[in-house]
Order: sequence, then C-alpha cells, then structure tokens
Amino acid sequence: MASSIVLFGPPGAGKGTQAGNIVSITGKPQVSTGDMLRAALGAGTSLGLEAKGYMESGQLVPDEIIIGLIEERLTLPDASDGVLFDGFPRTIAQAEALSHIAQLSVVIAIEVPDSRIVERICGRYTCGGCAAVYHDTFNPTSAAGVCDNCDSTEMKRRADDNEDTVRTRLTAYHEQTAPLADWYRQRDLFVTVDGDQDIQKVGQAIALVL
Ligand code: ADP
Ligand code: ADP
Ligand code: ZN
Repeated sequence: MASSIVLFGPPGAGKGTQAGNIVSITGKPQVSTGDMLRAALGAGTSLGLEAKGYMESGQLVPDEIIIGLIEERLTLPDASDGVLFDGFPRTIAQAEALSHIAQLSVVIAIEVPDSRIVERICGRYTCGGCAAVYHDTFNPTSAAGVCDNCDSTEMKRRADDNEDTVRTRLTAYHEQTAPLADWYRQRDLFVTVDGDQDIQKVGQAIALVL
C-alpha cells in the first residue's frame, strides 16, 4: 500500500511554508484540511457553511465533517501513491479514522514554542494567485505587494489570523491535537524538527527525515 506523510504542529508552525518542498521531494500532493474548508466556504457549499462558525472562532471543526472530507479526497486518482497531510489529523478520533484508510510512513512535527506563534500568525499573508505564504517581518515579498513566485499583486490575509482567535486555536491545539504526539510515538511514527530557526534550516532538517 502506498504510504502518506503527516505534517504536524501548532498553528503557524510553518507547515504550509514547508509543504511545497516536501511535495517536490516526494511527489505526493499536499492535502490541507484548512485549505479545503476555506475552498468550501468560498464556494458557499453547505459543508463550508457548517464549518464557518468554528473556523471564525478558532475551534476545531467536528470530526465527522473532517473525516468525510478526507475520505472523499483520498478517492481521487492523484492520492493513489499517498499524500502529504497538512493540518490533519488534529484529534485522536481523526487519527483513528485515518489509520483505517491510509498507511503512514512518518509524522513530521514542526516544533515552535507558543511564545512565537502569535507573531507568526498575525504577520501572515498569502498570494491569491499561487498560495505562496509570506510574513510581514520574517518572509516578506522582495517587492512590496508583488508575489516572488507568480507576480500576482493579490495578497490575502485570513480573518482568523488575529490575536484573539490565535489564542483559541492554541488552546484547541494543546487540548485536542497535542495528545496525538504520544499516540504516534507509541506507533513509532513520530519525528520532531526544530521549527524555531529560519525557513531554509527547517526545510533542510525536514529533508533529512524524508
Ligand atoms: P502553518 O501552515 O503551520 O499554520 P505557515 O506555514 O502558514 O504555518 O506559517 C505561519 C507564518 O509564519 C507565515 O507568515 C510564514 O511566512 C511564517 N513562517 C513560517 N516558517 C517560519 C520560520 N521558520 N521562521 C519565521 N517565520 C516563519
Ligand atoms: P493553521 O494551521 O494556521 O491553524 P488551518 O488552515 O490548518 O490553520 O486551519 C484553519 C481552521 O480550519 C482551524 O482553526 C479549524 O477551525 C479548521 N480545521 C482545519 N483542519 C482541521 C482539522 N483537521 N480538524 C478540525 N478542524 C480543522
Ligand atoms: Zn503567487
């Protein structure tokens, strides 16, 4: 059976930032539940509407919704050789469900202390053209407002990337997601990478794991 990879870590750890590199190294497509939920919301689907309130307040979307999304995603042809999960699983119930539908080779945890998370999230913006991830201070575009990657000038900020919501998201992470670390350690799948160093260094550390 083809194996998948999980990118694990608190909000703002740098999962989305590092995903592109992992995709080019492994050839496995990125499957981000956050991106899928935002797409559903943007498209105005009933699933998007159901998820909306949870996302806006920084709480986790119910497991049934997330597991349904993933089950459907894994039936697409490009998932047949395994995928890179980004931001999933986030609860033990999600991990249990995943264990029945996919085989994992490794869970890569990007470790960043809470004290860094707020500044990372509150300075985040992304390119509307290609979804490249930037930061006001730590990773700005070379020319102000112009994407380095695709020249788009449509930069976006997420409504939930504010200090209040980040605190709720961090609480959800510690209460519901962090217990997955031991769950995956017991299954010998858990590898940690120091995420509190510059973006290139984190990328090198991840490449060593792959
Ligand atoms: P996640 O997908 O884990 O929520 P992102 O990849 O979106 O995190 O990163 C959150 C923010 O932190 C972005 O603005 C990104 O540019 C920035 N960032 C990512 N990695 C680092 C790093 N190693 N050092 C400093 N800032 C970073
Ligand atoms: P970040 O990594 O920056 O916290 P995401 O884009 O991964 O953000 O997630 C944004 C929001 O979408 C979360 O706060 C949560 O409401 C919802 N979400 C995303 N993935 C999941 C998941 N696997 N389980 C439950 N909720 C999720
Ligand atoms: Zn771009």
